Amino acid sequence: MPKDISKEKSINKAKTTVELVICAVIIGTSVFLGKNCIDNVKVIPSTNNEASIIEDIDIPDPSEAIDPDKIVYTPTSINTKMKFSGNLILVNNDHEYFSTGEENLVSIMTKNDEAGRSTFTAVDYDYKLLADTYESLAKMVDDWYNIYRNDTLIVYGAHRTKEFQQQLYDQFSANTAGDGEAPIVALPGFSEHETGLAFDFSETAGYDYQGTGDFQWLNENCYKYGFIIRYTEEKESVTKYRSEPWHFRYVGKPHAMYMKNNNLCLEEYIELLRSNYTYGGEHLNTKDEYGNDYEIFFYPSEDGADVTNVPVPTGIRYDISGNNIDGFIVTVYIDEKTDIGQENPALTTSPYAYSTTTADESSTDTTSEETTETTVAY
Ligand SMILES: [Zn+2]
Repeated sequence: MPKDISKEKSINKAKTTVELVICAVIIGTSVFLGKNCIDNVKVIPSTNNEASIIEDIDIPDPSEAIDPDKIVYTPTSINTKMKFSGNLILVNNDHEYFSTGEENLVSIMTKNDEAGRSTFTAVDYDYKLLADTYESLAKMVDDWYNIYRNDTLIVYGAHRTKEFQQQLYDQFSANTAGDGEAPIVALPGFSEHETGLAFDFSETAGYDYQGTGDFQWLNENCYKYGFIIRYTEEKESVTKYRSEPWHFRYVGKPHAMYMKNNNLCLEEYIELLRSNYTYGGEHLNTKDEYGNDYEIFFYPSEDGADVTNVPVPTGIRYDISGNNIDGFIVTVYIDEKTDIGQENPALTTSPYAYSTTTADESSTDTTSEETTETTVAY
């Protein structure tokens, strides 16, 4: 069994690296150990050994004084299949989306009703997004509304099941066969709309949204809320999509801001992280709109193993997202200290669970989405 083999390996590794383990426990905050000895500290059973071994340890050279601001990383076991999930997954013509069937989708209109929000709406109650995406969208539109007092905004495209994407694709292909242009409707399984992280705006007057006029503010400021305009004319050769000023994708604040400031589309950003900002090398240090600091790095998935031991910070909040290709992106919220072990309760209290094990199985979610989307296909 892969799990047992992995455990056995870890134990053997631990035996051969006892001295380094002791060193890691005592020095604790040393960034050298945090960043370079991940294999060695992998199996430390928290800090139980500390009391018994502390007297055997040499006092560190003062010239290598411990910096209390350095981040200490320790490994946490993540279901390797989690690389297909999270705010930073890349879904495009080359990278298929695999639904877990466990997504926390919420109805936009139901949530608006609950909050007494009338600043925008959706086509009907079946239009859903992931809960976090909805909350960021709602905050963005509320802020926009407070400036423009415009209530004509409508979410015209939201989460889609693979089946619904198939219908859209068939319909659109029939209408545009052979025009030779980049596709505007993704192949089933390859649409960001299946992730619940993307939505399309329209405005009720003409069912058209170009991000102009009052709406220009949304396209220019969406990064402050963690969104990117996913398909721009400038990046058409990379995304392989025509410009879609109405299509917003949630990625999270520090990532959205970095992409905007550095003029990167999601394909380019994911590639930058996995090539230049790996765990063992330099990490990406960046800020969000509000001056909060973040440290971001990529860690490859241990494909073929049930779990991947992803290094995460101790005592600091973090997120882990898959990139939907070959690993994980860890986002460290440097300014947000937490109690040890409470950095990311969601990961420990609700272990990631996949209902399927094969790539070609699709969600059996029977949520029916509005199927009368005949005049505009995104
Ligand atoms: Zn769209």
